[in-house]
Amino acid sequence: MAFHGAGRQNVCGDLFPGSDLGHKYFCVNSSCGAPSTGLSATPCLTAPTAPAGTPRHPTALGGSTGGGAAVPQPYSNPASEVPSPAEMEPDRPIGYGAFGVVWSVTDPRDGRKVALKKMPNVFQNLVSCKRVFRELRMLCFFKHDNVLSALDILQPPQIDCFEEIYVITELMQSDLHKVIVSPQPLTTDHIKVFLYQILRGLKYLHSAGILHRDIKPGNLLVNSNCLLKICDFGLARVEEPDPSRHMTQEVVTQYYRAPEVLMGCRHYGSAIDVWSVGCIFAELLGRRILFQAQSPIQQLDLITDLLGTPPLSALALACEGARAHILRGPHKPPSLSVLYMLSDGATHEAVHLLCRMLVFDPAKRISGSDALSHPYLDEGRLRYHTCMCQCCYSVPSGRVYTRDFEPVAERPFSHSYENSLLSVWQGKELIHRFITEHQQGKRVPLCINPQSAAFKTFIRSTAWHSSKVSRKEER
Ligand SMILES: [Zn+2]
Repeated sequence: MAFHGAGRQNVCGDLFPGSDLGHKYFCVNSSCGAPSTGLSATPCLTAPTAPAGTPRHPTALGGSTGGGAAVPQPYSNPASEVPSPAEMEPDRPIGYGAFGVVWSVTDPRDGRKVALKKMPNVFQNLVSCKRVFRELRMLCFFKHDNVLSALDILQPPQIDCFEEIYVITELMQSDLHKVIVSPQPLTTDHIKVFLYQILRGLKYLHSAGILHRDIKPGNLLVNSNCLLKICDFGLARVEEPDPSRHMTQEVVTQYYRAPEVLMGCRHYGSAIDVWSVGCIFAELLGRRILFQAQSPIQQLDLITDLLGTPPLSALALACEGARAHILRGPHKPPSLSVLYMLSDGATHEAVHLLCRMLVFDPAKRISGSDALSHPYLDEGRLRYHTCMCQCCYSVPSGRVYTRDFEPVAERPFSHSYENSLLSVWQGKELIHRFITEHQQGKRVPLCINPQSAAFKTFIRSTAWHSSKVSRKEER
């Protein structure tokens, strides 16, 4: 039985031929893997040539959609028996998110390489407890091919010993940051199919009422077949409908931070993610960071250098200092024509879409959903649904396309439980129960093998700034 999209990498195997990265990258033990083919590896992005992907029979789609809930296995024990947990060995670290460390591991149940994310310092205080529970529930909620979701959660110990949470997700080969800084050629076709998938995932998140708040190239995972997934929901939160409620400014890596956040607006919405995508679009075209400043003030200066001095109406929600800084400076005319010089790929169509995303006033910025309707993305949509997606399929007579190319979430993500969470202990009980209930009736439960050589290192590893950020009041 296929497990969580197994075989997905073959779907476009002939579109990007010659990539055996997966075998080199995901070795099980240290003796078989030269470090040079590991972390620094980048996807083999050869130019797409084939008009269509490998034809698949419709029945092959069953059980491999979206990487959502774990698939029941035929060898699962009867309900009356408690299955023995299968032990998994940490392999090596592959990344550090906003809050957590990610390792590559082998799932002992099927030998498949997956990613294991350790969420540390969960029960340090109520703020971190709420944040981790929110991220965990989001990862279990997501069912979309361009959004990373939880495949499984490791069996927690008894509640007295319960300190950390381990989540299993699909293992991706690289991320967009590594691709951009690599010497791999990036064609217009690549950029279009990447941008299409980013916006497709973002439309889904926003339709669920979720703001990602840290969209950057490093949080966009990619495979050598160009499949892309948005990851790291450590800073994500539910959209705040009440404009009088203050939201934290401690979001978004500075280079991708929207002007309203830089100007200290106390309330913001999904437009901050669209700004980040605009910055990434320009970075894909120019192969360098669009606004690379040393400080938030300089960041704002670089933005106004390009877009010109914003109108007063765009400064209405800015903090006093930011408004004064902009008004005190010289009046700058817009210089958007420099965007044509990013690269040969900066066509009129590309720059037009870019200029709709990089709008200073969030109320006038294009939405992720509307951006998908821009003609620049037509080819990316066609390419994605011709040979990369899980929602369409080929039959001998041709391709059968889905009715909805960019689906929204079935329902909004609910966070009402957060208000009733009043203590760390209560949160611990709630999370313990959530994980236990999530596992019930599913596959053989997993735990980490404590005898493994890498176990001690893995247990000690923590996110480099998790304790620093989690102490801040986060809203
Ligand atoms: Zn499709």
